[in-house]
Amino acid sequence: MQLNFLGTSGAKSLPLFRSQHPQSVAARQDPSRRRHPSCAYVEAEGWGLLLDAGRFDVGELLEDKPFRGVCVTHFHPDHVQGLFPLRWAAGEPFPVFAPQDEVGCADLTTWSSRLDWRRVEPFQTIDFGPFVLTPVPLNHEPCCLGWCVETPAARFAWLTDTSGLPTETLAYLRGWQPDAIAIDCTYPPRETPHPAHNDLTQVLRIHAQLAPETTWLLHLNEAILQWLEEHPDALPEGVALPVENQPLSLIHRGNLTLKS
Ligand SMILES: [Zn+2]
Ligand SMILES: [Zn+2]
Repeated sequence: MQLNFLGTSGAKSLPLFRSQHPQSVAARQDPSRRRHPSCAYVEAEGWGLLLDAGRFDVGELLEDKPFRGVCVTHFHPDHVQGLFPLRWAAGEPFPVFAPQDEVGCADLTTWSSRLDWRRVEPFQTIDFGPFVLTPVPLNHEPCCLGWCVETPAARFAWLTDTSGLPTETLAYLRGWQPDAIAIDCTYPPRETPHPAHNDLTQVLRIHAQLAPETTWLLHLNEAILQWLEEHPDALPEGVALPVENQPLSLIHRGNLTLKS
């Protein structure tokens, strides 16, 4: 399975408009430090799949890819705004797997065009080409579903947005044993958890509970990136900041490798 992180921030992408925060200043000077809203692309056996579509320019990034469909976590704009232009694509409709939400970004369902909506229930297993897809509940309003993506080669979970994990999701993931996860890490360590988003303390607990080979941090912003820069030893082995637009090859445990 090939994996490419296309967006690793939330709505507060980097650089933030008009911000003089050191992280935004650095992102303006060095394009490799820019971070876009939530979006990842996975590919296996000539089938390409988006996990969220938070980038408005996602169509440009997919132009030469064998794109087949989208898995949506929830209908906050930083996860679906790329669907607004993508729905007017030329060619056949493509499936968009998403939770039930009648009001979130309702214009997308009023004017679906090429978006072939497939409303899904938690833990419903979906066969999609070489992928087996399983949505899992997350702690985030409105209804939010993480996505477990499996091929014969690897298991990867996209878990954003969330604060902690629901008991049933944690139990499912423990049994499923992902090779790698990517998870909401909006905040530096906090005294008390935020109700809608993880802080680093919660993420490190989940990493210890699931023991994937790699845990990537998502929904990044100025504050968490600055905190991590000031605490360079805060991330244990196996927990990492993702690099955008640098394709990875995911294969089973013990063999997670960077594609050169
Ligand atoms: Zn978000
Ligand atoms: Zn959200």
